[in-house]
Amino acid sequence: MTKSAMAATSQASGQVEEEPPGAAARSEVDVEPPSSTADSNRNRLFPHIPEEAWNDWRWQFRHRIHTVEELAELVPLTTREQAQIKLVTTKYPLSVTPHYLSLINFNDPDDPIRKQAIPSFQEIALADIGLEDPLAEERDSVVPGLVHRYPDRVLMLLTNLCPMLCRHCTRKREWQHGGWVRTPGEIETMLDYIRRNTGIRDVILSGGDPLTLSTHRLEWVISRLRQIEHVEIIRIGTRCPVVLPQRIDDELCDMLSKYGAIWLNTHFNHPREVTPESALACDRLLRCGVPVNNQSVLLRGVNDTVETQTKLSHELLKIKVRPYYLFQCDEVQGTEHLRTPVETGIEILEGMRGHTSGLAIPTFVIDLPQGGGKIPLQPNYVLAQLGEEWILRNYQNRIFQYRNPRGLTSPTNGSKNGKRASTHLDLSLDKNSVLAPASGARDENRVIVRS
Ligand SMILES: *Cc1c(COP(=O)(O)O)cnc(C)c1O
Ligand code: SF4
Repeated sequence: MTKSAMAATSQASGQVEEEPPGAAARSEVDVEPPSSTADSNRNRLFPHIPEEAWNDWRWQFRHRIHTVEELAELVPLTTREQAQIKLVTTKYPLSVTPHYLSLINFNDPDDPIRKQAIPSFQEIALADIGLEDPLAEERDSVVPGLVHRYPDRVLMLLTNLCPMLCRHCTRKREWQHGGWVRTPGEIETMLDYIRRNTGIRDVILSGGDPLTLSTHRLEWVISRLRQIEHVEIIRIGTRCPVVLPQRIDDELCDMLSKYGAIWLNTHFNHPREVTPESALACDRLLRCGVPVNNQSVLLRGVNDTVETQTKLSHELLKIKVRPYYLFQCDEVQGTEHLRTPVETGIEILEGMRGHTSGLAIPTFVIDLPQGGGKIPLQPNYVLAQLGEEWILRNYQNRIFQYRNPRGLTSPTNGSKNGKRASTHLDLSLDKNSVLAPASGARDENRVIVRS
């Protein structure tokens, strides 16, 4: 029996009632997986776990890997790696579900799934860079756990618990305070605030991961929100479809289907996370009337290329999940090694727009420091505005002239609301030198002038 097989067995003791046929034989063979497929990993790491247990979110949740010792029993780690991980976890704990662990290819030190789940020494080596709470969420909390930043929507932080602790988490600061779930009293205080503020029409349940609450507790919150007339939509922000897809069970779906417009935003970062289990979870949500959108975080070495983001979007669309946001990784302490320059995100969007389905293209946003809120960043397709004419380029860098409706452009070279006025533009500039794209000599880089 392999070391990892033994570990899985002892870990599961008390869970496994009977050995599935063939499991013993399989665990006898000490082979490296030919590829990093989740199935082969699962069979190797957790060979004796019956299908029923594996597919039960409670089993997955109870068997999260929390310590470097548990991790080292399952996967190859050098002594040095073990020492480093141990040190990191004193500041930033470790938690990975068996499901997510089985997606990691441990033969690849740069595996993009591993980077999101397994602590890196850089988390403490670079820990003095960045801030604990760059978004000033503590300051914008109107009552404990309720962040009210925008006029018509609030964020309800119900717990700090997550099935998996993502190494890039924006709320890493919360990990140090031990696990908490808001008490019914605290939730009542939040509900009171929402009741009194009739401008709030959108409530986002977040955390931590709100789906770590029992379905019963969650229903208690959702049903009370539904009694507030001005609350139009409820959103759930959860990474469960990715890290604990088993959580999306019939009980949860039956409950959600009773409460009207509920939207779910999840957090896939890499195409390999779109597994059959995740596909099933999203399908269940869609069937019970809950649209699923994705909010991914742009991470260095994980998903910071056009190819990976395009593939991620394609995999998501295949399971009917719409890419909503691509987040610039916030300036959070302990995440510096995963952050990318802002330009990377813009370049990725530029590499996608026009080249693939518009549905596949997320909005790239920075959540501004000090609670400035989310702002979208785009490649710039506007080259100039000359009176009524806009000079625009397309995804192939071809240049087009586009005319405003007659008589609606102010003579100061801007639209009437003046927002787009580019007063610094020298109108006498030679047209070609204004319009020539920087990259120059491609055939298709020509000015299209409509007669
Ligand atoms: C992200 C966020 C929201 C929701 O933003 P949308 O752009 O509507 O998705 C609301 N409140 C806070 C504090 C947020 O950080
Ligand atoms: S699921 Fe979200 S809140 Fe939880 S650790 Fe990951 S990024 Fe943080």
